[in-house]
Formats: sequence, C-alpha cells, structure tokens
Amino acid sequence: EEEAIIRSEKLSVAGQMAAGIAHEIRNPLTSLKGFTQFLKTKVSDHHEYFNIMLAELDRINTIVQEFMALAKPQVKQFSQHNLASILENVITLLETQAIMNNVEMKKDFAAKMPTVYCDENQLKQVFINLMKNAIEAMPSGGDLSITLKEGDAGMLIVRIQDQGVGIPKDKLERLGSPFYSTKSSGTGLGLMICLRIIEAHRGTLKFESEESSGTTVTVELPAFEWETE
Ligand code: ADP
Ligand code: MG
Repeated sequence: EEEAIIRSEKLSVAGQMAAGIAHEIRNPLTSLKGFTQFLKTKVSDHHEYFNIMLAELDRINTIVQEFMALAKPQVKQFSQHNLASILENVITLLETQAIMNNVEMKKDFAAKMPTVYCDENQLKQVFINLMKNAIEAMPSGGDLSITLKEGDAGMLIVRIQDQGVGIPKDKLERLGSPFYSTKSSGTGLGLMICLRIIEAHRGTLKFESEESSGTTVTVELPAFEWETE
C-alpha cells in the first residue's frame, strides 16, 4: 500500500516537471516564430523553407499545448450544466471549419434532458477534439451528425457520427494511446485527453467504425438532475 503512494508521488513529480518544461518551451517558441515570420518578409526567395519552418513551429506548439493539457494538474470546476448547450456551443465554434471542408453538421437533440455535473471547459475540449477528428476524417466533405439522448441507467448519450475514412479494425485498440496518429500534422494526443476527461467525469467513450464508410463515437455521461422550470 505504501509503495503505491510513493509511486504515485514520483509520477506526479515527473508529470509536474514535464509540464514545467513544456511551459518553458512556449516562450522561446513564440520568439522563434516571430523572427521566422520577420525574416520571411525580408528575404525575397526560399519562401518554401520559411513556410516549412513556420509549419513545424506550429506543430511543436500544438504538441506542447496538448501535452500541457494532459500533464498539468487541472483545477476542475464542477457545476451543473446543460449538455445540449455545451454541444451547441462547440458546434458554433467549429461551424467555419466544417463549411470550409464541405461538412454539414446535423444535430438531433432530445427536447428535455437532465443536466450533467461537469467541468464545462473540459467537456467542451472533449467535443471539440472529437468533432475535429470527424471533420478531418472527411477530406471530401460529408455529414457530421451529433445526437443527444437519454440512455439507460441514468446516462446521457452523445453520438458523433461521420461519413469519413473510418478506422481499420486492428487500429481501434490503439486509439487513445499517446502519439498514435495517422495524420501528417497530427499529435495523437487528442483522444488521450478526451479519455482522461471523460473518465474524470465517470463517463465512457466508445468507437465503432467501418473502413471507408465512417465512424461513430459514443460518449456516455451520468445524468445529474432534471432542471426545474
Ligand atoms: P490526431 O487527431 O492528432 O491524429 P487523435 O488522438 O485526435 O490525434 O486521433 C488519433 C487517430 O485516431 C487519428 O490520427 C485517426 O487516425 C484516428 N481517428 C480519430 N477519430 C477518427 C475519426 N472520426 N475517423 C477516422 N479516424 C479517426
Ligand atoms: Mg485529433
């Protein structure tokens, strides 16, 4: 028993150090990006190299940010929220990206739903990650349907369904492990963050997929209580 406590302390020190390092990387990164952008305007050729440098700097920045979201001991602010409005909010946030990718977002929410007890920003982060993945899975467009309904045993069910490239059966179990990504500019940290947050909310995350026909992600979260009118 004692050993378990010591181990978890060691882990948290390592986690804190890593988060600290990630944080320290951001300032020099910002200055590198600024000077690279400046030089690009001053040098008349080799712009393709500057573009690669800027894209790679952005990539480091995304990795560091996503890593920090994982490692940082998060201050959780739980309160009662309406899951439908959290989803509406995320849909609005991603509307431009969807339109640019020929993706039509279709929502189907049950009229009256219990609330969830949650950290609103963390849940938003989950749905942003999942809907972004869905949009990215449809390079030539398609429908992205988002449904919210009540399930059994006091659970609320959010379903995010795309018509994208799908996930091969043998890759399904790799989802959520760090750095597993099939995208040239992916980090493979998004789903890990989602999983972490959903578990902290006593929920579950499930993937069903059919190659070249699409993926359905199901998030189940415990209902808190009915809002009184
Ligand atoms: P990233 O998006 O940076 O690659 P994620 O952790 O968000 O990292 O996702 C990991 C991998 O899971 C993706 O690279 C992709 O291969 C696969 N994936 C996730 N969601 C979907 C989806 N809706 N359709 C197809 N593949 C998906
Ligand atoms: Mg992602």
